[in-house]
Formats: sequence, C-alpha cells, structure tokens
Amino acid sequence: MNGPLEPHRARKRFGQNFLVSPGIIRNIVDAIAPRPHDIVVEIGPGLGALTTPLSARVDRLHVVEIDRDLIARLHDNYSPDKLVIHEGDALEFDFGSLGSDLRIVGNLPYNISTPLLFHLAGYAAQVRDMHFMLQKEVVDRMVAAPGGADYGRLSVMLQYRFDMERLFIVPPGAFNPAPKVDSAIVRLQPLPTADLLARDDAMFARIVQAAFSQRRKMLRNTLRDYFSEEALTALGIKPTARAEELPVAAYVALANAQVQ
Ligand code: SAM
Repeated sequence: MNGPLEPHRARKRFGQNFLVSPGIIRNIVDAIAPRPHDIVVEIGPGLGALTTPLSARVDRLHVVEIDRDLIARLHDNYSPDKLVIHEGDALEFDFGSLGSDLRIVGNLPYNISTPLLFHLAGYAAQVRDMHFMLQKEVVDRMVAAPGGADYGRLSVMLQYRFDMERLFIVPPGAFNPAPKVDSAIVRLQPLPTADLLARDDAMFARIVQAAFSQRRKMLRNTLRDYFSEEALTALGIKPTARAEELPVAAYVALANAQVQ
C-alpha cells in the first residue's frame, strides 16, 4: 500500500487525471456553492483536490471511490465525522440510499462517463443538482440541440430529465497527468415537472436506442419494429426523417404511442 508520503501513480484504467490548478478548483467549488446542510456526494475523490475544499464547506461529505490505494489515503487524511467513504464502483452504487435532494459532483473518470451518466439519470427524482467535469466533447453532446452531429442518444436521454448548462472549459494543463483533450464543467438540474415524461421509461429508452442505432438511416427503417410509415405520419413524424432531427418531445410521443 502507498504511504502518505509516497506519490500516487495515476492509474489509466480508473481514468485518473488529478486536478492541480488552484484557480480551476476554486471556480468549480464556487459553481457548486455548497451549503453546510447540503447532502453532497463526490464521485471519484482521488487525491482530494475537490474533496478538501468541499468538505470545508459542508457538515459532512459523501465520496464514492473505487481505487483501494486512494481509499486508504482518504481514511488517513480525513476524519470519519466529516467524510463518509463509500468503497466501490460508482456504476453500481445506489445513490438513492443516501436520501433525496442530493447534490452529486465529480471530476468523472472519462472512460466510464457515458454509462455513469445513464446510471445517474435514474436518480433524477432524488437529486437537486449535479456538477461534473467531463471531456468537453461529451458535454457538447449532452447539451446539443436537435439537427446537428452532436445530438444523439446521450442528448435525448439526459435532456428528457435534466436542464443542462455548460459552465466553463478547463484546459489539459489543469490536470496531472494532462489529458489529451479539453474538459468542461456541466450543471444538470432535474426538470421541475413530470409533464414531459413518457408513460414507460423503459419503452422511451428502447425507442431512442433503436432510432439512433444507425443514425444515418431513416426512422421508417430504424423504427420498423415499432411503427409503420402511416403510424409515424399520424404522429406528425416524417418517415424519411433521421433520429437527429427529432426533439425530445417527439420521442416521448413515440414511446407513449406504444403504451396506451
Ligand atoms: N476528484 C479527483 C480530482 O479532481 O483530482 C480525481 C478525479 S479522476 C479524473 C477520477 C477519479 O474517479 C479517480 O479517483 C478514480 O480512481 C475514480 N474512479 C474511477 N472509476 C471509478 C468508479 N467506477 N467508481 C468510483 N470511482 C471511480
């Protein structure tokens, strides 16, 4: 096990790029603006770049970390009254077990960012907000409007539940080791009403997946198992349209047409 004075060697398989820029760290924590009683959960605390300033602002901070060496350091460096360490894989973690009105944050491991975002989307009802650092390209896809190349399954599945805003860009030099690409901070806030929600979330997810499975193909082909051309037309959707042309509301209408 690493001693506290031995430098930790960053592990690629855990997507470890540690934040080292005090200015960027301050900007991220200011964007989160934690209050003492907030239930803040940090995914991937690593060497504590965000953990230390966050835990200074809240009564208690939850962290979820997978790397055993880093977990040992966290136990050495923080008091158990202030830091609740959940050891394990954030992809499997039941965020709902921590209560509601959660504020989830993290400089996420980029290699699992898409599945992690899908996992977290399932907890929207128990979340106040989420602030994440991600590859800039992923953030661009999350917030993309219909019609462009960035608009895809990730955009639809997240825009279905969250209002999202790209806050600022973070250059590679803010990390050690430096990643090859720019990063960005994004804020996700659950949409206030369930108005837009499909009657069956699983059906919604299946339709979106089918539509984007071959994004250059027309919907009359990709959705063939679900709708005839006439049925698409009846819903106001052109059978010759492609997945990237449809707004989130159209996917909700498609899912609801399957679940009467
Ligand atoms: N928060 C630190 C920082 O900003 O310097 C570290 C960020 S680093 C990009 C990602 C962190 O997530 C690492 O600590 C890594 O060990 C952890 N991690 C990677 N995969 C994980 C997983 N599946 N579940 C929980 N933590 C994970």
